[in-house]
Amino acid sequence: MTRQEFIKNTNRYRNAVTVSALVALVCLFVPVGFMAWLDPNRSELPHHVWTILNIAAFVVIAAGYAFMFVRMSRLSKPLGLCCPQCKKSVVQMSAVVIATGKCGHCGARVLDETV
Ligand SMILES: [Zn+2]
Repeated sequence: MTRQEFIKNTNRYRNAVTVSALVALVCLFVPVGFMAWLDPNRSELPHHVWTILNIAAFVVIAAGYAFMFVRMSRLSKPLGLCCPQCKKSVVQMSAVVIATGKCGHCGARVLDETV
């Protein structure tokens, strides 16, 4: 992978992570807002409906965060942002890879071109 391809894929990874984080935030604030909106009328609802709504809100929040973490963990390998030798993600140390062309974990060559 060339340096320019690495930079392009790192930017694609960061954009995808940003979108995933926005989805997780929506999955957090929509159920919380709905439950806060419903809370003043809580006494009018049957007890089991309130319990089911709470569980559903928790499931939506957990699903949003699970989506974000699964997407973050699976995206670096298809984009070639893992070290070919130690297989660890090099996204977090992309500045080291761009500057040296080597993995920050094990020192193996990640980029094709030499500095
Ligand atoms: Zn490595």
